[in-house]
Amino acid sequence: MSLKQRLYEMGGHSLSRFLTRSDPIIFMYHRFSANNTPHSVSKALLEEQLAYLSKYKTITSVLAIADTIKDGHNAKSVSAISIDDGYADFFHYAYPVIRKFNLPATFYVTSGFVNGDIWMWYDQVDYLHQKNLDNFVPSSNELLVTYGLKTINSYGELVSQLKSIANSDKLNFIEELSSSLKTPIPEQAPVEYQACNWDQVRELHKNGITIGAHSHTHPILSQCSPNVQNDEIQQSKSILENQLQTEIVDFCYPNGMTCDYTDETIKAVKENGFSYAVAAFTDGITHPDPYQIRRHGGVSSIDEFKNHSSGIEVLSRRARKMKA
Ligand SMILES: [Zn+2]
Repeated sequence: MSLKQRLYEMGGHSLSRFLTRSDPIIFMYHRFSANNTPHSVSKALLEEQLAYLSKYKTITSVLAIADTIKDGHNAKSVSAISIDDGYADFFHYAYPVIRKFNLPATFYVTSGFVNGDIWMWYDQVDYLHQKNLDNFVPSSNELLVTYGLKTINSYGELVSQLKSIANSDKLNFIEELSSSLKTPIPEQAPVEYQACNWDQVRELHKNGITIGAHSHTHPILSQCSPNVQNDEIQQSKSILENQLQTEIVDFCYPNGMTCDYTDETIKAVKENGFSYAVAAFTDGITHPDPYQIRRHGGVSSIDEFKNHSSGIEVLSRRARKMKA
């Protein structure tokens, strides 16, 4: 019997909640929708999740949790909500729900995305894929070899391989893929991939949503030179500070797995005056480092969400770690 099953039998969520009461659970969201669009959280699901979370946890800001990590005094039964990237669907669908519950939340914004300078590279690959569903894989085969990539069977495999090559190569690859498929990439993001505009970000900021930085162009920072990393981090902070006329101290690593940032990234985040940084994984460790704060996914269904918020996920990861 797995630990997860055993915990259910011994008292389920309430027992694991008790055992993990000193572990602040930070959730990360990305995309939202009015109804059940794939790969997004619907308004109704978010509402169900926030109602559940508010019942058992004190919901605070990520910065407040970072401060307790620095002090070494974790508050009991605390949770936080965070949203990455800067998509407009947060403003349209999630923000009204968060406002209704009157909860704090942190929105990590990619400054160049909101500026309209770029749109997300993986959305561009998705766009090319959607426009070329029948010939997407074969027409990119020759290109894959040129860039040292392995044969792919799906769009997802391509995106995950592109995360592991140098950022400049990745951008060149996407350009070449676009011309080999004879599908130009629009300058501005089509509506389904759109960012918030600055007026919307300002409105969020005025109404209690903390705005954090998430780089300028959302590269995998470990695939950039230290200078480029520093520029990405510095620029995102100064653009946000200019637009919002406030100090920005919250940072979130793009993609956020351990391989997506380096010691140099952490150094640059600290030197640019950020108070903490969040990653995008959990491993059962209770936040050992304020510049690598763990976060939970598990937002695509209510059952998964309950497992994460009650600490069952933390406990089973901890158990796996002890066995290894
Ligand atoms: Zn992101």
